[in-house]
Amino acid sequence: MHEPAPYAASEARSRGRRHPEPAPPYRSQFQRDRDRIVHSSAFRRLEYKTQVFVNHEGDMFRTRLTHSIEVAQIGRAIARILHLNEDLTEAISLSHDLGHTPFGHAGQDALNERMHAHGGFEHNLQSLRVVDELEERYAEFPGLNLTFETREGILKHCAPENARQLGELGRRFLERRQPSLEAQITNIADAIAYNNHDVDDGLRAELLTIEQLREVSLFEREYLEVERRYTRLPGRRMIHEIIRRMINRQVVDLVEASRARLGEAAPADIDAVRDRSEPLIQFSPEMAEQHRALKRFLRENLYRHYRVHRMSVKSAGIVRALFDAFFADPRLLPPDYQHSIREREAAQGESGRARVVADYIAGMTDRYAIAEHAKLFNP
Ligand code: MG
Repeated sequence: MHEPAPYAASEARSRGRRHPEPAPPYRSQFQRDRDRIVHSSAFRRLEYKTQVFVNHEGDMFRTRLTHSIEVAQIGRAIARILHLNEDLTEAISLSHDLGHTPFGHAGQDALNERMHAHGGFEHNLQSLRVVDELEERYAEFPGLNLTFETREGILKHCAPENARQLGELGRRFLERRQPSLEAQITNIADAIAYNNHDVDDGLRAELLTIEQLREVSLFEREYLEVERRYTRLPGRRMIHEIIRRMINRQVVDLVEASRARLGEAAPADIDAVRDRSEPLIQFSPEMAEQHRALKRFLRENLYRHYRVHRMSVKSAGIVRALFDAFFADPRLLPPDYQHSIREREAAQGESGRARVVADYIAGMTDRYAIAEHAKLFNP
């Protein structure tokens, strides 16, 4: 093990848990966070939640669970090279998508639209609600009672009106400051993971072609190199060889550019990292541009592909119909949710009811949402 860098997150300087607990005897605080996340119900449900492809479309595609594991793998590798806290990076990576609705962004947008008059719906904030309130696992407290540092990392984005209600955790969004380096790593590891695995899944689903991808410089460069080194490599091995090289090139660039920036800025500690207006973990300007170009390509050619769009429209319809039905008649909900609605309605009126309905829907897997929709609406 390397000496941790002075600006790494450390449990000795942790801002602690909302409900104080004795330290675990044989694990670090951040390992404990990671373990609690892995044992949570929301984590298990990631297996059946869409990343881009609806889960039942095939067994070969990424789901939110395998995506989260890939993020953790890339994140840990980067954290280790930069002498940062690997356990914290892993805990943030594994929990960063816990608040996602079924059906990926289509589901989240539909729920946000229905929640418009009731404070909106943001999946980042929902991930925090899952670990702070919604998980029911411990006698002593609601949620998972994670450390401040893990919660800080989970909350990647936050609208100002929500940030104002979050106290210390929300303050950085109002003051334009940064989270820990471990959280910054997770943000980019997330993008590296999905950009590259979406290329792989898009090719597998035959929504993208290699010819199209050759317009993307990140892809083209590795394509030419692989073709030069290995003539006549069969299709799948060729694609995987290209993608692994793309990931490697992005990670190496990120590590080298960030190391240079850290050397220049020389933050004294984690609070000096937080006080900065810009993240220190960043690609070089050239790689940042190539990375954006890949993202643009995927938006135009994959996420807006008519076959993906058809699924998105259908999924949004399911989420809207479920929300409207449960909101109009809460007695359609399981008894414990009806109970939560009575409690929250007493305090917050209709918005309280809407929030419980949103929590119920957000917690659903793709197939559970489809089944609920069929039970409610099929004659
Ligand atoms: Mg993600």
